[in-house]
Amino acid sequence: MDQKNEIQRHLQALCEEIGPRPTGSQANRDAVSYARRQFEAYGLTTQLQEFDCMDWSRNGGTLKAEGKEIPVMPAPYSKGCGVQGEIIRVGSLEELRKAPLSGKIVLLCDGLASEPLMPKSFVFWNPDEHKEIISLLENGGALAVLTVSLSAGQYLPIIEDGDFELPCGIVLPENLPLLDSGIRAVLKLDAERKAAKGANVIASYGSGAHKVCFSAHIDTGSMTPGALDNSSGTAVLLAMASQLQGKTYPYRLEFVLFNGEDYYSTPGEMAYLASHLSRPEDYVCAFNVDGAGLKGKDITYSFYECPEKLSSSIRSFASRLEGFSETEPWPQGDHTLFSFSGVPAVAITSSGIFELTEKVLHTEKDIPALVDTKKLGDLAAFLLGAV
Ligand SMILES: [Zn+2]
Repeated sequence: MDQKNEIQRHLQALCEEIGPRPTGSQANRDAVSYARRQFEAYGLTTQLQEFDCMDWSRNGGTLKAEGKEIPVMPAPYSKGCGVQGEIIRVGSLEELRKAPLSGKIVLLCDGLASEPLMPKSFVFWNPDEHKEIISLLENGGALAVLTVSLSAGQYLPIIEDGDFELPCGIVLPENLPLLDSGIRAVLKLDAERKAAKGANVIASYGSGAHKVCFSAHIDTGSMTPGALDNSSGTAVLLAMASQLQGKTYPYRLEFVLFNGEDYYSTPGEMAYLASHLSRPEDYVCAFNVDGAGLKGKDITYSFYECPEKLSSSIRSFASRLEGFSETEPWPQGDHTLFSFSGVPAVAITSSGIFELTEKVLHTEKDIPALVDTKKLGDLAAFLLGAV
């Protein structure tokens, strides 16, 4: 099968046959089995790196205050609940330190609803102020937390944390006038946390002490087919693997499908960090593919902790190809796992991808029609050529 058709087939399997595949869900486990079977069919040895996570689902909620129905949505990964109590509005950390929360429904607004709070388990960047807010909420005896959405007409969470111990709902800013302190409210959140397993897929080709690693995340947000984010990356790695039989390379090739880039605690990334990246000396370099192949745009690459010799040889190789360009480094995504560990890393994505972050990525609009499969075939050839 030619590369383009091969990639098309993987996109279809992941986005259409399997669909949204958040870490912890059955669809996620189906995607993992699919990718593993493909790697094995191409002759690679595979390993599943399992970890604990949760399968979370929600089915809306209701909020009644003074007889009025107010739209509410369970925050991602929230516990479910059915509680009634007085509302207490809190707008700043100073207020929160003094507020009598016990037996009440706490409504975070103003300064406390101006930016998302980092999940408790997120170690790379977690400001003391965020930790204090979370701890005051959890230890104050409140019944539940409501947060005002970051944007009108859309439920954007402040708290997105499966380890947060209180039920948490999101209300819209336009309904704030109906939710004053002292008002009695009844809050029901229909959401459920179930213990589940997830796994990274790790496939190897060839032998040798030193390896070149190629990675992409296989999970998606809960509502999206995840074509650009990131079945395109997964498909590129599978297409590369399909080309290997009979070939020899100066290094061992490792293909890693991370599971958890779009999950609050990035459990797959944390598992791989502990098991593999504790030995950065094993790696020559790593290429992470995420968001590549957007139609009508260049494939872009950027360098992290790369020695000059490596980046200049990749630059000169890319300059001979059409549709590849260099971009500024960006500090999010799975490539940072490698660069934090001291492994030279190259991040591959599309120019213009960040403009799609809010309206397309993580929504039902991230579909295969946005993806240029020919370009992804070129990318697979480029990455194997780079080795
Ligand atoms: Zn992604």
